Amino acid sequence: MSAVVEQNREERIDSEDMRMNGMAFASGGKGRRLEHYFAREGVDPLSRAFDGKIAVHPGVGGGMVEPSAVEGSLEALLDTPRRGDSVAYIHVPFCETHCLYCGFYNRGYSREESARYTDTLIRELRLWEGRAAQNDGPVHAVYFGGGTPTALEAEDLERLLKAVRAHLPLANDCEITVEGRLHNFGPEKMEACLAGGANRFSLGVQSFSTKIRRTMGRLASREEVMRRLELLKSYDQAAVIVDLIFGFPMQSMEVWRDDIDAACAAGLDGMDCYQLNVYDQTPLGRAIREGKLPPSADIPQQSAMFAAAVDTLQKRFYRRLSLTHWARTSRERNLYNLKVKGSANCLAFGPGAGGNLAGWFYLNQNSYPAWQDMVNAGRKPVMMLRRPDPHFYFFRAVAAAMEQGWMDMPELERRFGLACSAALSPLLEQWSRAGLVEMRDNVMVLTLAGQFWQVNLSQLLQDFLKHTLDAGMTK
Ligand code: SF4
Repeated sequence: MSAVVEQNREERIDSEDMRMNGMAFASGGKGRRLEHYFAREGVDPLSRAFDGKIAVHPGVGGGMVEPSAVEGSLEALLDTPRRGDSVAYIHVPFCETHCLYCGFYNRGYSREESARYTDTLIRELRLWEGRAAQNDGPVHAVYFGGGTPTALEAEDLERLLKAVRAHLPLANDCEITVEGRLHNFGPEKMEACLAGGANRFSLGVQSFSTKIRRTMGRLASREEVMRRLELLKSYDQAAVIVDLIFGFPMQSMEVWRDDIDAACAAGLDGMDCYQLNVYDQTPLGRAIREGKLPPSADIPQQSAMFAAAVDTLQKRFYRRLSLTHWARTSRERNLYNLKVKGSANCLAFGPGAGGNLAGWFYLNQNSYPAWQDMVNAGRKPVMMLRRPDPHFYFFRAVAAAMEQGWMDMPELERRFGLACSAALSPLLEQWSRAGLVEMRDNVMVLTLAGQFWQVNLSQLLQDFLKHTLDAGMTK
């Protein structure tokens, strides 16, 4: 994510409203002791600052719109021109296999479904065509995610990409990412994506170890993965990046270092390094519980793996685009991920896809048949709409800054008219003593340990700010 999300008209209006309302921070959160937000002191911060990663709960949100009022509210939103950073998300809910660790597995894939699904998606792209919220203002990044978009048949991939370009007002330099797997992604599909205008591929490699890959339900061997990456790069038409995961059962530090080395040796445009989260309800959670697989890495091991990735990629002169993403070439921008974690508008298509128009969050029908029925009946399949929190742009700016690993307090104060530095100082002083942050000229910078615990820190920070704003609100 870019460090500070670009200001737009709505942000300025938002900050003016806050100043007019005379909102001010009061120190301490309403009904909560300050210590609630503290990290452990006097221990190795990288491995022991907290007991474990805390669960992320949905950010600060406004209230739900009554179901009977959703369509009316949407109509008003659709007549409002879209301004500022904007992205589009196209959801493809199919996976050819269920990876053991995945909590996002949606639907099994069949060839017959590919064309039907593509037809319906293209119909959905047309539903808001001509409306200001869809067509007035450039879209800067499009992301085909899932699921496994590369599971779709070649001709469907091409016509879907072409439909997106035809029905959405893409900026001239729009990043168009196709996410997927290398299994069953051969030259025909690669060329179809390129013919459709894809200029970035984000591929879930996770580990190059064939043993770990196969155990986790990834079908391609290390050699096949390498051959496919080489082929995709040889077209010289798009950024090629991979996701790696650390912390799998059987993935020692040696294996993890080999994963990073292999990704570097493949000469890719960039890579993500994510920590494995084992959820109880996933097949992996069950297999570990039942003793069928060894445990995944514990927190000290994971923190050491994270540190190894940061150190290795820094030594090899990769550019850090966010705490989890590195670029090697100028082709890689990681635009979608950077923008969507900030306050960008997001036009969303497909079952279960979530969008955002000026802070109004909507969720498409997540039932595949219900989504199909609504689209085929000519209705945008929105099942839920949430109005913006009054501080939406402020909280998203904080979230985006934390993803970058630094937060410019004077800049936040200037943009939003809120006394952030004073309100946050008791918290940041404690985090600094705990070895998680450093203050550099009023800019809060996460240390390596702070980067590892970023999700905890972000959640605590958002909670603290929310309670503090509530407590200090005056009119
Ligand atoms: S990791 Fe990706 S491909 Fe595997 S089940 Fe999950 S969504 Fe599907």
